[in-house]
Amino acid sequence: MPDNKQISINKKWKELSTPDPEFPLEAKAPNNILIEITNACNLRCKMCYNPQMKRKKGFISEKLYKRVINQAAELGVDNAGLYTTGESFLHPKIFEFIKYAKDKGIKYVYITTNGQAFNNDNIEKIFTSGLDSIKFSVDAGDKKSYESFKSASWDKLIDIMKKIKKMRDEKNSHLRIFASFVVMPDNFNDLTGYNNVFRNLVDEIKYTPIANQGSQVNIEHTQLKAVSSLFSDLIAPKEEWSPCSFLWNRFIVTHEGYLTICCVDFENQLIYGDLNKQSLIDCWNNKKIKEFREIHKMKEFTKLPMCYNCSFIKRNKKAHSLFLKEMDKILKKEKESKK
Ligand code: SF4
Ligand code: SF4
Repeated sequence: MPDNKQISINKKWKELSTPDPEFPLEAKAPNNILIEITNACNLRCKMCYNPQMKRKKGFISEKLYKRVINQAAELGVDNAGLYTTGESFLHPKIFEFIKYAKDKGIKYVYITTNGQAFNNDNIEKIFTSGLDSIKFSVDAGDKKSYESFKSASWDKLIDIMKKIKKMRDEKNSHLRIFASFVVMPDNFNDLTGYNNVFRNLVDEIKYTPIANQGSQVNIEHTQLKAVSSLFSDLIAPKEEWSPCSFLWNRFIVTHEGYLTICCVDFENQLIYGDLNKQSLIDCWNNKKIKEFREIHKMKEFTKLPMCYNCSFIKRNKKAHSLFLKEMDKILKKEKESKK
């Protein structure tokens, strides 16, 4: 059993998101793979494009999934995120899929979920499958806002999270449990509630400022600024825009078997390979992805409208780090005042 009890979600994100600073067109195989188990979802969250997606909903086949995992394992990929644009726990074979990846030697298998597909009968399978970490997308600090942002049951979420945490502790399982909060104007005042409710239910809580998911979600930055000055510099001036790390540091597979450069490519607009015809490694440095890399490296983003309009390439790194530090301070202050 790997000792991952100390894994921090923020450190892991950094480790998996740092690309080669040279941004080479011919890149070495990445150590991370993201697989879209399904693009179907049982919720309709306000800050997500999923409910508007026009692409046909589907579930990855067992045959394709196993082929992809076999190839990733052969390449020595250590990290596998089994989710991208939908809710993976809707797939009837998800627990078998997790176990398969673990049995093939993938060291760290992780999933982000909304938690609503769990019930008393299936939560035990989280532990028998060998899953290494689970992150609950929460995005709210109380019942009223959760139910209005996500059209889902707050009571069910809390009940499931409590049960998973209790089971994890009783079994002394290595599973890491995280919660995430996308900070936006509608929920900015929920941060304290979120911290109070979730800090005892999970190992670490994560918050990120809202992103526009490759321009598919409409964000009014003026609205953000009106809520707090912390949002004011999150978008960098044009000369500081930088290539998107996703083109260098992860394989991203859709449920149909395509390779895309983007984990929020809801409409399959940024495809560079087809795993029904070729292998992961055959596609990784093919002509199409090199064209995408060259556009990013040369910062000719207008040639790729989805990326040109995406907040990810425009992140003001200093302002983001300040934003996170300020969030920490707000939450720490709140924690101390409760002592
Ligand atoms: S954020 Fe997650 S749970 Fe909400 S609609 Fe999007 S995919 Fe579904
Ligand atoms: S820059 Fe492009 S590849 Fe990167 S997250 Fe945005 S849309 Fe996706």
